[in-house]
Amino acid sequence: MDELRKQLSACNDCDLCHSRTQVVCGCGESSARIFLIGEAPGGEEDKLGYPFVGKAGHQLDQFLAATAINRDQLYITNIVKCRPTTDGKRGPINRKPSLFEIALCCRWLEQELALIKPQLIVTLGAVPLGYFIGRDLRLSDYHGRILLNEQEKTLLFPLYHPAAVIYNKGLNDVYQQDLKILRELVNKLS
Ligand code: SF4
Repeated sequence: MDELRKQLSACNDCDLCHSRTQVVCGCGESSARIFLIGEAPGGEEDKLGYPFVGKAGHQLDQFLAATAINRDQLYITNIVKCRPTTDGKRGPINRKPSLFEIALCCRWLEQELALIKPQLIVTLGAVPLGYFIGRDLRLSDYHGRILLNEQEKTLLFPLYHPAAVIYNKGLNDVYQQDLKILRELVNKLS
């Protein structure tokens, strides 16, 4: 894992290397059973160099509390490791990674998965789920369902991105219900 981090930190494979502060590598125990995947680093993660810090870290704490998952059970990463931005009125703002950026960056995700060998992959939002099951999907058809990821031979559990729940309060009940299902699933993992 140290060698992977070293190589990843020096990656210049796509244009995001020009605008990033630093590569945001995944973090967690190499023995983690649960592999959590977000979309891409945001501004605070780009500055601090860790996934799910700042506002996203608060969302992660709520996620852990609701699912009773301990941090030592979890490896956290993003599908794209450098912050994608677009121009905003007051400077760069976050945007979704492009398919091209995902295609170039996914080799790092694949190496993380090969090293960690999780029992369960939890995707946050449509972008990481699309990577596993194809991009012509509606997350509303898949969230909260326990799927089998044939390629990795793991269970796959899609969730809405917690940030989406903040912007769309109508999703909150459904998100809480999904977390409950996930909690039951985690309890059953050996
Ligand atoms: S986003 Fe991924 S592929 Fe692009 S420079 Fe960063 S680590 Fe490399």
